[in-house]
Amino acid sequence: MSITGEAIIGGAQERGAGGSFKAWDPSRREYLEPAFHMVTPDQIDRACRLAGEAFDTFRATSDQERAQFLDTVAEQILAIGDELIERAMAESGLPRVRLEGERMRTVNQLRMFGALLREGSWADARLDTPLPERTPPRPDLRMRLIGLGPVAVFAASNFPLAFSVAGGDTASAFAAGCPVVLKAHSAHPGTSELVARAVTKAVQLCALPAGVFTLLTGTGNGIGQALVGHPAIQAVGFTGSRSGGTALMAVAAARKQPIPVYAEMSSINPVFLMPNALENRAEEIGKHFAASLTLGVGQFCTNPGLVLAVDGPGLSTFCKAALDALHATQAAVMLNQNIADSYRKGVDALANNAAITTLARLEHEEGKGAAALFRVSAEEFLTRHELHEEVFGPASVLVVCQNLGQLHEVAEVLEGQLTATLQIDPEDYADAKALLPVLERKVGRILANGYPTGVEVSTAMVHGGPFPSTADGRSTSVGTGAISRFLRPVCYQNMPAELLPEVLRDGNPLGTWRRRDGALTKE
Ligand code: NAP
Repeated sequence: MSITGEAIIGGAQERGAGGSFKAWDPSRREYLEPAFHMVTPDQIDRACRLAGEAFDTFRATSDQERAQFLDTVAEQILAIGDELIERAMAESGLPRVRLEGERMRTVNQLRMFGALLREGSWADARLDTPLPERTPPRPDLRMRLIGLGPVAVFAASNFPLAFSVAGGDTASAFAAGCPVVLKAHSAHPGTSELVARAVTKAVQLCALPAGVFTLLTGTGNGIGQALVGHPAIQAVGFTGSRSGGTALMAVAAARKQPIPVYAEMSSINPVFLMPNALENRAEEIGKHFAASLTLGVGQFCTNPGLVLAVDGPGLSTFCKAALDALHATQAAVMLNQNIADSYRKGVDALANNAAITTLARLEHEEGKGAAALFRVSAEEFLTRHELHEEVFGPASVLVVCQNLGQLHEVAEVLEGQLTATLQIDPEDYADAKALLPVLERKVGRILANGYPTGVEVSTAMVHGGPFPSTADGRSTSVGTGAISRFLRPVCYQNMPAELLPEVLRDGNPLGTWRRRDGALTKE
């Protein structure tokens, strides 16, 4: 397969005429061929209208048919072969082993949503038996979930496969029966084109309407804003910066018909070193914390950007172990120049902050990210909000508290987070129990004695959290729960049997779990 640089792949496929740009190879520090055409406003409009037209046909497909489609997308991605890995390596600077793992994760994610559809209970079917003798009589009520409509998905820069063209947002939208109009990330347009061709091939092989999927290529805020503002679009999935996410939330809210935005934006993922764990295991914790901080050059939304500890036995051992481990790392290529520049600015700002002590700052190299660790007192942290913001990359701030009361105070002032981690030994359980209600209010996932990087794709996973970690903390963007973002309930009252959707019919023809008068049953 060769990359053509077309502005649009999929439903509204045609050559773009809105200018062009080239992808950047962050390792070799050179532009890659070919140039990519940019979408025009007319093409964005056409892609969205086609998605709107495809919606009813797509959502009328059976769960089995959509599962087959998701499996076919997975097969077609694998069929691209090594070209996909090579191009993703060139465009992202990520190593082969990471990208091969990410490809498997992408494929398994698609198959996981296929399995969810085959199991069937995602539709949350509910049937309330009519009570004609009751005063007032209760009607026959039946409820199921349906897709929201076309979804605009913004691919993430830091997962060029698993959170990009056929990543979790796209897979969950497809599973819900929603067409996808995808804004490719301008940092990996060739990778995006290859995957988009695989998705388009799957659309054709499964005889689905072309508007089920369209990829838009280009760069500049106008594309995303036109996409989110388009009347056919009914929901948004986004992973990226806080400024980008909040700008798109504002566009969605200002529409004649406002729509939900599921934006995953910024999180500093606090790690709490509880006193006994720190006293007993400081060296081991310091070493593993440094490994988590520098994994993937810190370019994970779950990167541990904040560590909190009470001053006392173990803290200096923790610092020494962490610093030794950080000094053994080297600056490494970041995803793109923009991210490398933002990281450098963020680290400069921390280093120049009068309240901060620099514990480690490895030597900077152009386009690369080098580890950094800073220290601040809880008193200063409590009043300096600039220290609460994400610095995307391998940098973290250690907040030193005088006592556990102050540690609670710091936890209370934190913004919403994707994760919080507790390093605890059994003697810490009572203190951890007192902290848990605060953490439950602030974060989407609470870990004990682990590290936040590494997000399992599964049924119980929550990759979400209160603002600004996400735009809407009632959901997850990883795991089967991600489908709920693109669904809404419809109730059918006294509907003739012939007009009911299959999943709500008497006799349960699909054999799925349903709630009859509140109780789960397959009858
Ligand atoms: P980004 O700048 O927010 O871009 C993400 C996508 O949104 C791109 O397609 C971009 O278009 C578009 N976009 C950005 N701002 C927009 C606006 N105001 N209106 C309309 N569309 C807009 O994110 P990024 O490029 O991935 O990385 C930049 C920073 O985001 C990083 O330094 C980091 O701080 C943060 N980030 C966070 C996470 C996380 O998971 N928390 C992940 C990745 C990045 P273009 O293609 O034209 O740029």
